[in-house]
Order: sequence, then structure tokens, then C-alpha cells
Amino acid sequence: MPTPTVAIGALGGTIASTSSTAAGGEVVPTLTAELLVAAVPGLDAVASIEAETLARLPSPSLDEPTIVRTLRWAQRAVDAGARGVVVTQGTDTLEESAYLLDLFWDRPEPLVVTGAMRSAEAPGADGPANILTAVRCAVAPASRERGVLVAFGDEVHEARWVAKTDSVSAGAFRSPAFGPAGRCVEGEVVYGAPPHRVAPLDLPADERDLRVPLLATWLGDDGFVLDAIRPDEVAGVVVAGFGAGHVSAAMAEAVGRMAAHVPVVFATRTGSGPTGRAMYGYPGAEIDLVARGAVGAGWLSPVKARLLLWALALRGPVDRDLLAAELAVRGTP
Ligand code: ASP
Repeated sequence: MPTPTVAIGALGGTIASTSSTAAGGEVVPTLTAELLVAAVPGLDAVASIEAETLARLPSPSLDEPTIVRTLRWAQRAVDAGARGVVVTQGTDTLEESAYLLDLFWDRPEPLVVTGAMRSAEAPGADGPANILTAVRCAVAPASRERGVLVAFGDEVHEARWVAKTDSVSAGAFRSPAFGPAGRCVEGEVVYGAPPHRVAPLDLPADERDLRVPLLATWLGDDGFVLDAIRPDEVAGVVVAGFGAGHVSAAMAEAVGRMAAHVPVVFATRTGSGPTGRAMYGYPGAEIDLVARGAVGAGWLSPVKARLLLWALALRGPVDRDLLAAELAVRGTP
């Protein structure tokens, strides 16, 4: 039986990085998609690969337009017959790219994002194993209708919950609140529950240059950084608050001033768990922030809430009720 086709698009990152000096010093992204694929033993038994180098960037230098171009490339690949698509990139912003792709991925075929914590020439490089898992995930019938997935270290995560939770560990990727959606065991991809997919957003044809800043609050924050943002220069703001999304009383006033002009989302900076809804009544807690016009991110992390607001703003100014409705659906398991 012929193997299914999988398109692999490479964006750079550690997975594609090799030493920039003959002596084997610091690494930079150099490898093409073809070279990444060539380093994976046994891949041709799983799928017939169409490899394309989309960029060779460190992932902190990726941006929304690059990810939107990647989305369009992936859509073309499945339209041309690919059973699934794999995107390789740096791990630093992988959780954001995966979620941005997921917001717009409107195909049943799996789109799987992966990377590596060890560079291509390092002992025990994890890139080839992660690519193999990602391709297995991309061809698995059980992966269909699940939107965008992240394959890393034999685990499969939903794009909306996955996070890089360690700066250097080979096991850096986790879905802190809910755990991985699936595992790859003896070459088979197995999920713990059936697909549960929120409908994707429409991607407008014209590109808009939008800013949605994300601010983390801190002990003693009096709101001066938030007040320094000019509302006419942003499409909205996300605040990563303490605990269940809380800020100081002074910062709450700054939130109210900003929310009078543009949408403000409060999220939790803890790395796991939802924003509060009805527990605390003090100034700067959830009830007060909502009364001042802000909206809680629910279970979405600050970076993912920021991307959702950015994606909604592509269609024009974001109405607070629409934002609350979207967060209620997309920020809930
Ligand atoms: N440390 C990063 C990585 O794992 C570098 C990057 O994100 O490009 O790929």
C-alpha cells in the first residue's frame, strides 16, 4: 500500500540549528527542511514527505504574518492531497504559533507542530524523534478533527493548552492544567478522549498591522506602564495578573481607564489554572475588574489570550460582549 503524503514546513529553531564555527561553538538555524527529514530514520516507512523550507529563523523572531503565511502554505498542502501537515520551529514561541494556527485551521487534517530542545548535532538530539512522532501523529486517523496539535517527546498536546514550562529541559512541553491529549506508543498515536474542537475563526484576506501588548503585573504595580500605552495605538491589552488574574487597587484603576477605550483581558501569570469569576470582592480582583470593563481569560494563558484578541481584532474593533463570548468558549475545556 502506498504511504500517505505529509507536508513538512520548516521555520528554523534549535531543531534546525548547527554550530556556526568549525570548533563547534554556539548554534544558529541553518538546516533546510530536506536536511531535517533526511536525519529521521524510518520516516519513509510512515509517509512520503514533501519538505519545504519556509524560513530559517530563531523563533523569537517569528511574527504573526509569518505564521499566517505558514497557515496558508499548510492549507495548500492539504488541498493538494497531503494526509496531514507538520511544521517545525523553535521552541521558544512554539506554544504561540501552534495556537495562532489553531485559531484559523479549518481543515479536518491534522496540523502538527514540533521542535527540539537539543540542536541537530548535539548528543541525543531530540529533533529526529520529535519529527517522527509528529509525522505519525499527522497520518493517524485518530488525529483528525483535532485542530492543531503539538508533538513533543512522544506526547501529543492540544495547541490551546500546551506551554513551554522549562527553559532548557528536554521535557519542556506540558499542558499544565489538563495534561497531554495523547501519546505515541510503539508507533501508534492514542488519545484519551474523542475530539472536541471549537470552530475556527475566519481569516480575513487583507492583512492588518495590529498591536496587542501583554503586560505582567508585579508587587507594587501602580499602573504606570499600562497608563503609558496610548489606546489609539493598540487593538487591546492583556494583563497577566497575580493568582486568578488579580491586580493591585491602583492597577485596577488603570485597567478601567484602558478598558474605556479598548478591550482589556486579564489572565493569570501563574502558568496554570483559570481566572476567577465570582470569588473575590476586593479592588483589583475578578469581580472588580469585570465591573471596570475587563474580561477574564478563563483557562487561556496570557500569551494565548493575547493571540485570540489579536485574531479577533483582524476583523475590526472588538466588541466586549463578543470577546467575552469567545473567551467563554475558547478559554474553557
Ligand atoms: N531555544 C529555542 C529552540 O528551542 C530557540 C528558538 O526558539 O528558536 O528552538
